[in-house]
Amino acid sequence: IHIEIVDIPVPITVGAAFEGQQIRSDDMYVEFGGQRTTAFELVKKRDKDEVEDGNVELIGPDIDEVEEGGQLPLGIMVDIYGRDMQEDFEGVLERQTHHFCNYGEGLWHMGQRDINWIRISKEAKEAGFTIKGIGEILYAKFKSEFPSIIDRLQIRLITDQDKVEEKLEEAKARYDKRDERMEKLSDESVDVFYDCTLCQSFAPDHVCVVTPDRVGLCGAISWLDAQAAYEIDPAGPNQPIELGETIDEEKGQWEGCNKRTEKESGGNVTEVNLYSMMESPMTSCGCFEAIMAMVPEANGIMIVNREHGGQTPVGMTFSTLAGSVGGGNQTPGFMGIGKTYVTSDKFIQADGGIARIIWMPKEFKEQLEDDIKQRAKEEGLGEDFYDKIADETVGTAAEEILPYLQEKGHPALDMDPLM
Ligand code: SF4
Ligand code: ZN
Repeated sequence: IHIEIVDIPVPITVGAAFEGQQIRSDDMYVEFGGQRTTAFELVKKRDKDEVEDGNVELIGPDIDEVEEGGQLPLGIMVDIYGRDMQEDFEGVLERQTHHFCNYGEGLWHMGQRDINWIRISKEAKEAGFTIKGIGEILYAKFKSEFPSIIDRLQIRLITDQDKVEEKLEEAKARYDKRDERMEKLSDESVDVFYDCTLCQSFAPDHVCVVTPDRVGLCGAISWLDAQAAYEIDPAGPNQPIELGETIDEEKGQWEGCNKRTEKESGGNVTEVNLYSMMESPMTSCGCFEAIMAMVPEANGIMIVNREHGGQTPVGMTFSTLAGSVGGGNQTPGFMGIGKTYVTSDKFIQADGGIARIIWMPKEFKEQLEDDIKQRAKEEGLGEDFYDKIADETVGTAAEEILPYLQEKGHPALDMDPLM
């Protein structure tokens, strides 16, 4: 393999060693996204004449035009032309922006797609780092890590509010298209699953098992993405898992998944159920889009998404929960997930499925409204099941929402005990 060594023209050190470093709000000069401003990242395959190789461009105000501790919108557009580039590779390459940004000392990245969140430290700014530097790092890393599929690469960083909003529409259409392709597949329709060990850089025991019905918990690696990643790099972090013997169909336990998880977790996790959160659930690293937690008082579960800052019926906010659930452990009763797993027909089927959901933040619930209604219908719960799920307007403590669940006749109250 030919590996291109590229110099990165930025005044900060760039290396995998810096991944996992935090930038606290006191140490930050400027931030983008994180529900504070409009932000997104998009990797897109383009035609040859649409991409000017090496062009790294900032469109809008730069770092010195904001005050210390300030915020800006940011659209990161990575345009790729390559003879061997496929549309199927976009999602996998896009996920790399997370890692590549975190390689920069004084640069921090969280999330993906249009819920990303980026910070530049005061120290980096002091050293002369500018927003364009993000593009320089991405250009150099993409070029050196994927020489076989990238012939031409250009990066656009957009900090102009109107322009970000305009391009966000293009990004959303792309995300939707990727999600639609995935919807046509199911766990029964494929022969292999894939693992993902990309997050072991900061959660050494963590293994995502990615299946058509269950996206990686970051929400950024679908089964198709994992398949594409394996095609791009057969020795990389996504390896096919031959399922072998089915140990428990209801819980979603296969010999092959157990063995792989055991191997990749260094022997720490020996059993994993893909369709349960109560018994040998999948491990959680730290990038989950949402966290599920049991609410014993209601015999059900709540799901809180990363964007939600408020209190939840288990007495913890998302970030407090994240602290106790993450790190690569199995925590029965709690689990980090990708959002689309909620409306998968395998969603904790061993624990009672979608009928267990008793609370979600209003905004998150509305995001999934159509799919929840559809799934509820399929499960014979009726379309009005959607209205039986409480949200923060009903209450944020178990005793506040219980009367609501009783009044609405929520099915979880009559189900088998969760524990
Ligand atoms: Fe891979 Fe899972 Fe990390 Fe996503 S959360 S990058 S699927 S290991
Ligand atoms: Zn992770």
